[in-house]
Amino acid sequence: MLPNHHYSNWLEIDLTAIANNVRQCLQRTGVAVMAVVKANAYGHGLVPVARAAMGAGASWCGVARIDEALELRQGGVEGPILVLGATPIARMDEAVAAQVSMAVWEADQVDGAQSAAARVGQRARLHLKVDTGMTRLGIEPAGAVDLARRIAETQGIDFEGVFTHFARADETDPHPTEIQESLFREILDGMHASGLRPRLIHAANSAAGLTRPSACFDMVRVGIAMYGLNPSRDCPLPPGFRPALSWKAALTQVRRTPRGRGVSYGHVYITTGEELIGVAPVGYGDGYRRVSGNRVLVGGRVVPVVGRVCMDQIMLQLDAVPEARPGDEVVLIGEQGGQRITVDDLAECWGTFNYEVVCGLSARVTRLYDGGSGLLSE
Ligand SMILES: *Cc1c(COP(=O)(O)O)cnc(C)c1O
Repeated sequence: MLPNHHYSNWLEIDLTAIANNVRQCLQRTGVAVMAVVKANAYGHGLVPVARAAMGAGASWCGVARIDEALELRQGGVEGPILVLGATPIARMDEAVAAQVSMAVWEADQVDGAQSAAARVGQRARLHLKVDTGMTRLGIEPAGAVDLARRIAETQGIDFEGVFTHFARADETDPHPTEIQESLFREILDGMHASGLRPRLIHAANSAAGLTRPSACFDMVRVGIAMYGLNPSRDCPLPPGFRPALSWKAALTQVRRTPRGRGVSYGHVYITTGEELIGVAPVGYGDGYRRVSGNRVLVGGRVVPVVGRVCMDQIMLQLDAVPEARPGDEVVLIGEQGGQRITVDDLAECWGTFNYEVVCGLSARVTRLYDGGSGLLSE
């Protein structure tokens, strides 16, 4: 019996696909790769993905929050880590002690990092974040050179990097990204003119890394492409990338149901004849959305989810699979018998995009890792 039969529903994460996708990014861009593993590695599992990415040649890990960085350290990830979001000043000691690099965009943060470095007795590593048009985090371009000088001249601080983030690199029109890139270059020129040369310049996410060689600078910060998912409809992955995640469940019950039976809460589905109805132990508590129109694979065929999605279960209309039995594999994302349901398919059904689908996979779903030598539970 396969190990997956121990679980109601589970994710199979192919770490060889993660490694392959990192190598694709290295080859295509020719620069260093930061593996962006925030939000539990887009649902794929923080530590296993980070280890696989670093093993395949990524040189940095990028996270959103200090807690994610510390979890990586606890998991044995020793390479450079950048917290891309705001590190609370009250927690800068922890970042410095763990040799975690921080993004900053205000003088107060630089002062906080200096104090933390003095208390801990180690250097603080900072990346200046410049807002060139995303209007999220970062210093306005006008103040960037002055803050860069302050970082460079402050005792106890390593001025490791300068970066920005693109708002529209996944669209067909390159113009908005061109504007951001040229603004970023002006700021870099201003720094160079003042003798300021941080080691690492970085700007590109997956979409920019794959489509704009000029925006790659010293490093690309790759999230979605590393997971083998398309940056957007207008910016699909080139050939050579592979999706890393499948989502599966095992049927728990299959039965013939007479005509006129209401199925699940609210009886929004009523059988129109004798129907074969199956139950799969996955629901919105696992991150499966409570919308109509969901489809899954059973016995190599596409079958509809009928009635409302419950917290822990869904009901399937199995007339197309008369041989279905309890224990049979149900595929929510992935391949079965030559059929396939992609993360993009599910995103379309749910009225969202692929990033949100994988980030919404609940912590309670067991992740099984296949690094090429069989499935291993985390
Ligand atoms: C999330 C994030 C990335 C990765 O973006 P993808 O589109 O997933 O490649 C890169 N940089 C920053 C600052 C981010 O927040």
